[in-house]
Amino acid sequence: MSKAALIGPSHGMLRSNKSLYIQNFAAILRNPFYIGLIRLKATGETFQGAHSPLIPKHLFDRVQEALDGRMKHRVIRHDLLFRKLIRCKMCGYSLIGEVKRNAAYYRCHTQDCPVKGIRQDVINTALTNRLQMLELSEKEQVCLPAVLRRWQQSEVEGRHAAITALELRIGQITVRLERLTDALIEGLLDKPAYEERKTALLMERREAEEQLAMAKTGQAATEVEKILEFAKSAYSLYVSQSPEEKRELVQIVTSNGVFDGKTLDFPWKFPYGEIANRWQIADGGPKRNTCRIWECLLTVIAKSMKTSRPQAA
Ligand SMILES: [Zn+2]
Repeated sequence: MSKAALIGPSHGMLRSNKSLYIQNFAAILRNPFYIGLIRLKATGETFQGAHSPLIPKHLFDRVQEALDGRMKHRVIRHDLLFRKLIRCKMCGYSLIGEVKRNAAYYRCHTQDCPVKGIRQDVINTALTNRLQMLELSEKEQVCLPAVLRRWQQSEVEGRHAAITALELRIGQITVRLERLTDALIEGLLDKPAYEERKTALLMERREAEEQLAMAKTGQAATEVEKILEFAKSAYSLYVSQSPEEKRELVQIVTSNGVFDGKTLDFPWKFPYGEIANRWQIADGGPKRNTCRIWECLLTVIAKSMKTSRPQAA
């Protein structure tokens, strides 16, 4: 296509080789000639031209928007998989995702921060490797259901004992609170000391009450089972899911990633780290007893669950 064809009719300044002023140029760009129409200057009427359009209508429209100053700066937003999920270890800010030459990567935008970018596929590999740690071996697949059943049975028995013990403890704390008030009234205790001890006792009682509520519902046993179900399929879910689901999954099992320029770490959330590192529970050695490890692990998880709030999808 020649320059003349691009510029269109009746703009003689090109032929006379004079410089194009911005206004003239704008007038040229406003001419619908390029989309196959003829506009009569005199009447303002527009007709279908006999020539073929040179540019598509949407491009013409965008040019008009730009000329009108109506065009917003179009930021091409890529909903990148790990957006806001990785933090720069040096400055603490989230790494910003970008797409360059068809490859997604994330880098720290803080000025003068030495942390450079990391490619999305590298992050993805790190995460899949991590999630693979949650997968069960064949031996575990055989042994876990039985271990879980036994553990749940003992949980039921243990729960009755726990309920009794907790109720007793709550009663004792209540008595101690009453005595504390007596001590204050009798002048055996000053107000600040009284307040301090009272707060401690109230906190202790609250904790015991929460544990009692949990013991009564048998929540721990159900939660543990849900978590195990989720953990063992986390890897296969991750590799087959949509980006949004992947993000959700990552956020359930790990905290935000931390990148220091070299190493990328996704710290486990409880109890997924315990599950991933289950082999470390036993005293090591090649003769690791799979069933025994899981018995220990279930106890560890259930115990810690009283203070943490684990999640399962
Ligand atoms: Zn940084």
